[in-house]
Amino acid sequence: MNPVTVITGGSRGIGAATARRLAHAGHHVALSYRRDHDAATAVLADLHATGVRAIAVPADTRDPDQVTALFDAAADLGPITGLVNNAGVTSPIGAFVDLDPTDLRHVVDVNLIGYVLCAQQAALRMSSGAAIVNVSSAAATLGSPGEYIHYAAVKAATDTLTTGLAKELAPRGIRVNAVAPGVIRTDIHALSGQPDRPDTAAARIPLGRAGEPDEVAAAIAWLLGPDATYTTGTVLRVAGGL
Ligand code: NAP
Repeated sequence: MNPVTVITGGSRGIGAATARRLAHAGHHVALSYRRDHDAATAVLADLHATGVRAIAVPADTRDPDQVTALFDAAADLGPITGLVNNAGVTSPIGAFVDLDPTDLRHVVDVNLIGYVLCAQQAALRMSSGAAIVNVSSAAATLGSPGEYIHYAAVKAATDTLTTGLAKELAPRGIRVNAVAPGVIRTDIHALSGQPDRPDTAAARIPLGRAGEPDEVAAAIAWLLGPDATYTTGTVLRVAGGL
């Protein structure tokens, strides 16, 4: 039977790369997005071209009812075996003292509340052999001074969510891990006001370049897959040495 995987924020960036990679590996995919319908439709066409079943569901992960509807729709593809908790946002890069409370609230709501709501739906519906991967960030341990400390703090909470959930769900045979990407070439940097950040950051990355979304997708696919059956509660850093 094909695995059935929910990917939040699967319309662009790391989520889209993960959707494409998992579809090639035979996963049926339910991807969610918030507003970029055209991007979601384009990813969906690629998934269908591989022959798997795939749906794109507009669902704001901050909203419990929309999250429940996403998982209800995914369950039509078969028993849910995977969740990639990925939908995330930053806010304008800048000094901590300039942080706007509205931006702070948005980062917490999407990157923490959204992850918890999705993980809860997954935990309610999954059975032995299933796996969750939370997309954290290298920021969780670097702290992101002068950029977005609040985002880094929320990503550290993602790591704690991973630790606790891995222990709570282990007796049911459900694994929970995280990946911690470094600077990855996606739209998220434009949304934080620095579209060229992948290039400007290259000099301080030990491998000398930003990462590509598929390099993170490869780690996510490994953590979800049959080669990681004894791996739970870990945060796998995919950050070029950062
Ligand atoms: P991205 O290219 O900006 O894509 C973000 C995705 O999340 C889009 O599909 C977007 O949907 C969706 N999304 C945003 N807010 C949402 C909401 N409230 N409800 C549902 N979906 C929502 O971002 P990315 O760079 O791939 O980032 C993916 C994850 O990796 C995030 O958790 C991010 O924090 C983490 N990360 C990224 C980097 C990096 O350098 N890129 C580094 C470390 C960690 P729409 O298209 O509809 O808006």
